[in-house]
Amino acid sequence: MAASAERYDLVVVGCGIAGLSAAVSARQAGARVALLERATREERGGNTRWTEAFMRMKSEDEVADDFEEHLAANAGHYLDPSLVREAGNAYETWPSIVKALGFTDPELIASFADRAGPTLKWLKSFGLKFDFLPNYFITTCTTRIAPIGGGLALVEALAGWAEINGVEMFYETSARALIRDDGGAVIGVEAREPSGRSRAFHAASVVLASGGFEGNPEMLARYIGPGARYIRPVARGGYYNKGEGIRMALDAGACPAGDYGAFHAEPIDPRSGMPEPVIMVFNYGILVNKQGARFLDEAPATVDATYEAITRRILKQPEGIAWLILDSKIHDVPNWKKAVRSDQPPIAADSIEALAAKLGIDGSALGRTIAAYNAACTGQAQFQPLAVDGLMTFGLTPPKSNWARPLDRAPYLALPIVCGNCFTFGGIKVDRDAQVLDGDGMPIPGLYAGGEVIGLYYGTYTGATSVLRGAVFGRAAGLHAADRAKAARAA
Ligand SMILES: Cc1cc2nc3c(=O)[nH]c(=O)nc-3n(C[C@H](O)[C@H](O)[C@H](O)COP(=O)(O)OP(=O)(O)OC[C@H]3O[C@@H](n4cnc5c(N)ncnc54)[C@H](O)[C@@H]3O)c2cc1C
Repeated sequence: MAASAERYDLVVVGCGIAGLSAAVSARQAGARVALLERATREERGGNTRWTEAFMRMKSEDEVADDFEEHLAANAGHYLDPSLVREAGNAYETWPSIVKALGFTDPELIASFADRAGPTLKWLKSFGLKFDFLPNYFITTCTTRIAPIGGGLALVEALAGWAEINGVEMFYETSARALIRDDGGAVIGVEAREPSGRSRAFHAASVVLASGGFEGNPEMLARYIGPGARYIRPVARGGYYNKGEGIRMALDAGACPAGDYGAFHAEPIDPRSGMPEPVIMVFNYGILVNKQGARFLDEAPATVDATYEAITRRILKQPEGIAWLILDSKIHDVPNWKKAVRSDQPPIAADSIEALAAKLGIDGSALGRTIAAYNAACTGQAQFQPLAVDGLMTFGLTPPKSNWARPLDRAPYLALPIVCGNCFTFGGIKVDRDAQVLDGDGMPIPGLYAGGEVIGLYYGTYTGATSVLRGAVFGRAAGLHAADRAKAARAA
């Protein structure tokens, strides 16, 4: 490996919201910063480039009312109450097993919530504007704002600032390994340059902001299981994220955190190559598998609260696919097409038998499923397309809890749904300053993480918090690393 003469205060790996927030805030604090990005300049920005970047906020200053509660309710599975109790004490007193515990700890949740408003204020200083923009959910349970122009606007605003204010940008440059000194401190990154040669970027600190492992089939199969063969990133940016940041940190002794066996699942149309071709109207019809059988309650609550769990159940069906079956009464739902982002039309037929033939499903099995469902649609509640209406089935297993109307008006429509992977949950543990912690809950000197590299989620994703996580902890990392460099210079 050829050693380079340059020495930076900070090397940032990744040009999404986390990496850019780290690089720009460190640069604003006077640090000399290099940013390494696997993609070309035109494709920079990973997942951030493709998202609308909704943020679970009730205003530009405050997180949504359920923000902390939802994160805490999904902090881990069957956590030992004696350890959780200790996490109620001052952070400094936590034993190492609590600091290094794989759970979303209260210190992180509080710091995340407290810094969200100030981080948005900071983002606005780059000319970004936020509003309650329309989204693809017809029924929702929380509040969300988004930057006008989405994630692309975040990337272009921050990267634009970085380029003209002295952050050195290295595109088509993929980080491969951390460089450490004899004492274990991180002192740089070894990367592959566009020429294919190795190059060492020496620095006082490194921020790993290279996303999750949604673009790495080997890690997906290893952590999520063989069913991973049926999932794919929801947009092009995810293919750049191959998990190197997480692997490099783990190799350096970082403490794993986040649900390695899980990911943020979205119901997508496998026929479409559009970014995020979601189908969010399954609550108005029924979902059947390849055998023509229903397998879950399609409508337990608002769509935004249930789509992830429902998509995971689709993944467990034969060949990881299901079909949404609708009838022409779907047109009673105002603007229902806004919740179908696919560019492929529904498959239509005038009878269930003909529809089944087009789907390659046994017609008599599908016919029996629909007959049983229709017979159970005896609820008297009024159908309310825009509210959880309590119009449920009776005597049906599995039941349907809302929006249960018979499928009896041709033409019948079907949409295939598979499991899209927005981003993976497995990552590494950090403290409130985004310092990477080792297995003893101690910061690894010189190593920070931001965004998807941080393991924060367990079970159900707290929707509309991942871009915020990138901005909040990326910025925290950049500011802390800049201070660290200043302290080192002064010493
Ligand atoms: C279509 C879509 C919609 C979404 N909607 C929302 C939403 O509304 N709200 C929300 O909160 N979240 C949403 N998400 C999730 C959210 O966008 C991401 O989780 C978040 O933006 C990730 O930010 P990041 O900086 O951690 O990673 P990314 O934005 O993915 O950036 C990682 C960067 O690292 C680079 N990289 C990877 N490996 C290397 C390497 N070895 N060396 C150098 N560079 C490397 C990649 O090229 C990439 O540019 C959505 C995601 C998608 C795809």
